[in-house]
Amino acid sequence: MNLEHLLTDEDRQIREAVRDLTKKEIIPNTRKLETDYNFVEEVHQKLVDMGIQAAGYPAEYGGGDGSSTALGIICEELAKGDGGISLSAGINWGLTLKPAIVAENRVVMDRFIPPFCSGKLAYSCLSMTDEAGGADSENPLLDGAGIKTTAKLEGDEYVINGNKSWPTNGGIAEVYLTICTTDTKAGDDGVALIYVPRDTPGLSFGKPEKKMLFKTSINSSVHYDNVRVPKEYRLAGPGMDANFYHFISAGTGWHSATMALGIAERAFEIVLEYTGTRMGGFKPVRQHSMAAGIIADMAIGIEMMRASIYNLGYMLDHLDVYGPPWTPEFISKATAARVYAADTAVEIINKGAELLGSMAISEDFPYEKCLRDVKITQLWLGGQQISRYRVARGYYDLKNWA
Ligand SMILES: Cc1cc2nc3c(=O)[nH]c(=O)nc-3n(C[C@H](O)[C@H](O)[C@H](O)COP(=O)(O)OP(=O)(O)OC[C@H]3O[C@@H](n4cnc5c(N)ncnc54)[C@H](O)[C@@H]3O)c2cc1C
Repeated sequence: MNLEHLLTDEDRQIREAVRDLTKKEIIPNTRKLETDYNFVEEVHQKLVDMGIQAAGYPAEYGGGDGSSTALGIICEELAKGDGGISLSAGINWGLTLKPAIVAENRVVMDRFIPPFCSGKLAYSCLSMTDEAGGADSENPLLDGAGIKTTAKLEGDEYVINGNKSWPTNGGIAEVYLTICTTDTKAGDDGVALIYVPRDTPGLSFGKPEKKMLFKTSINSSVHYDNVRVPKEYRLAGPGMDANFYHFISAGTGWHSATMALGIAERAFEIVLEYTGTRMGGFKPVRQHSMAAGIIADMAIGIEMMRASIYNLGYMLDHLDVYGPPWTPEFISKATAARVYAADTAVEIINKGAELLGSMAISEDFPYEKCLRDVKITQLWLGGQQISRYRVARGYYDLKNWA
């Protein structure tokens, strides 16, 4: 699928620079990166030095006014080397503060954007998954009733109580966009999205989770014990916050899809190269028709993923044409790209492993990392089941009958 016409010259330059960094600094150092977080921070700092951290922020704050398409290319290229670096970086560059930029919440923008455009590494966090049932807090059919973290307005402040599990950059982020409820019975009006600075009294963090994949990103629980923040740190107010929560599901779903694509592309490269020289039945493995069929299926999956992901990036960059990014139709299309990318990437990477024999799972060969990294793209954001509810809602008023 040729999508070059969607890219600007600047997008292409960014892609080349990040591709080069991934090839030289990330791919050869997988093991070191997965065991030494200082080394991960060095890579992040290089991205900051390349101007990439600031790229997604408005020019008036020293940012680059970068497009969603450019952000997608960066995340795709980084995921070829390491999913965790791609995840953490994508969240820092735009996903957390983008809603405030779209909502034009100046108090939040003035308070929280500058560190990301300062030339120093800064982390942000989307604090969504409630400890007691993460899928419930993401489930659009529950109309906010599944959110467990509470926010109560007292005078000029919101008081937040609750516990979140697994947020990426938990404990190291400067700012936490926290999904709360002011009233679980109020439907969309009860959903509250509130920015919380790290140094707020009552905010604390668990130890980083140990995981088999994305070892280069930090996931820690976030605890809110009577955390007080100014009421202006609420994103956009009753009703609109629920819309922005849907928008976040579209943005994070798209980010997830770019990572699935990058990991699948890396797996494809490895399969193509290895089967070109590995002999079986007196010829290179890829010259057997059964192998060619698997290689073709990998290529077809990647081509279709790329088309749907960059189509979605284009939609996110042209909201004047495609409408607000929280309508059921928009969310459905965005989530379809995410679900398809995750399922396709998992399927083709598993299938490609068959052409590598035991090397597929050797720790001295790069494929095992693709097998590991790709799985999370099906599990997070409420998982594929909750995501499919979002897809179906674009076509009819799917309800929760509980
Ligand atoms: C590497 C990594 C990064 C992450 N990053 C973040 C982050 O940045 N921010 C954040 O907030 N969280 C993050 N998470 C958490 C992740 O998004 C959640 O774990 C995920 O959304 C699922 O929540 P849960 O584990 O509580 O699943 P549960 O609520 O226990 O649900 C488990 C499964 O039950 C099924 N299920 C539940 N309810 C229903 C239903 N109504 N209908 C059908 N099936 C259902 C689904 O299959 C679901 O996947 C991250 C997790 C990982 C591993």
